Amino acid sequence: MTMANAFGTGDFERLNPAEQSMIRRREKVLGPAYRLFYERPLHFVRGEGVWLYDADGRAYLDAYNNVASVGHGNPQVLEAITKQAATLNTHTRYLHDNILDYAEALTATCPDELSQVMFTCTGSEANDLAVRIARSYTGGTGVIVTRHAYHGVTATVAEFSPSLGPHVDLGPHVRTVPAPDPSLAPEQVGQAFAEGVEAAIADLKRHGIKPAMLIVDTIFSSDGVIANPPGLLKPAVDAIRRAGGIFVADEVQPGFGRTGDAMWGFQRHGLIPDLVTAGKPMGNGYPLAGLIARPEIIAEFGKNSRYFNTFGGNPVAAAAGMAVLRYIEDQKLIANAANVGGYLRQGLEELATRFDAITSVRGAGLFIGADIEQDGQPSAHLASRIVNGLRERQVLISASGPDANVLKIRPPLVFSRENADRFLEAAEETIRAVG
Ligand code: PMP
Repeated sequence: MTMANAFGTGDFERLNPAEQSMIRRREKVLGPAYRLFYERPLHFVRGEGVWLYDADGRAYLDAYNNVASVGHGNPQVLEAITKQAATLNTHTRYLHDNILDYAEALTATCPDELSQVMFTCTGSEANDLAVRIARSYTGGTGVIVTRHAYHGVTATVAEFSPSLGPHVDLGPHVRTVPAPDPSLAPEQVGQAFAEGVEAAIADLKRHGIKPAMLIVDTIFSSDGVIANPPGLLKPAVDAIRRAGGIFVADEVQPGFGRTGDAMWGFQRHGLIPDLVTAGKPMGNGYPLAGLIARPEIIAEFGKNSRYFNTFGGNPVAAAAGMAVLRYIEDQKLIANAANVGGYLRQGLEELATRFDAITSVRGAGLFIGADIEQDGQPSAHLASRIVNGLRERQVLISASGPDANVLKIRPPLVFSRENADRFLEAAEETIRAVG
């Protein structure tokens, strides 16, 4: 077996013949770059709310997927996109109310300064556009990111996505900085992070490179989920601005209410970014992403560069986006993220008092990271045992962080306390079994 997925001994043989056949077909037709989740990969055929159903009809509790943030198969989103698709689907080169209505509704969720939107289909494209704009506005080229950041897959963005691993080269204009350190005293976290950014600015300048932007995922998902203390980003943002660069908030992960305190992750830190990029949950699965800007930042770029993205922000995408915004508001999902997220975090903290494997629980709203250690060391192995053990108990999560030892718990925002109880029960059983 030469599976790119690196199945452990015997794992492939444990799959049923239909699954084995699909994996062989995948490898043959999709090639070697794709990976599957879990030692025993899953084959889902249907989703509803927080549940995913496999080919045998078994229900799995989704505590991981943030794209379907208003629920798998959300009926309101479905109705909005089918109605619009049956009526008209063109693009942003024609006048259309949906596009304008949605752009206005989206900017209305932001501080007044962020008043213009450009649409893309993916978060990667939004970040690619952000770096072009940052370079045009500042006249600089340098990009500062955290040490284990992920911002996307285009050639330019992969160059500032160090979590892609040592075989994907960073650009010569890219500098990495340590992510905020949650083990420091809260009042030191922001200052220490800013010192890293200042050192990166100095290093860029020393190499004759003018800084263009600092870009961070405002919940530091791939760096291990760091949300606290609120306000921690401010000194670093001040530093990049003093150096003539701009601050880009990558909201692909925390955006659209996930952090439970506001619509956007940056709001937790009491600042207004120069550009905001968003994606994933924006269309609840319909490809919709984009960039929200202060007008003065995109003015020069807009004068010099024509912008058109064939599918980005088309009338169907805009219908999906509008339905998502309405659903978040109507169902008070930001408050739900705070309420259920707080409950879930408390439950995990309680587990941490009884099991040595969990050494720290972090996060905001319905984005939670839990550190897994064995013998006082971060343990990717034990984290993987837990992730796969939960999968066997029909509960879905993953692991992240530089040491791959942080359980990443990030359910759809329609998660309930009852769902949280089910999650905690399965987590306790799993840790008991593998810890
Ligand atoms: N930024 C962040 C923080 C992300 O997590 C991701 C996707 N995981 C992206 C950007 C890229 O988004 P996409 O996959 O839609 O290109």
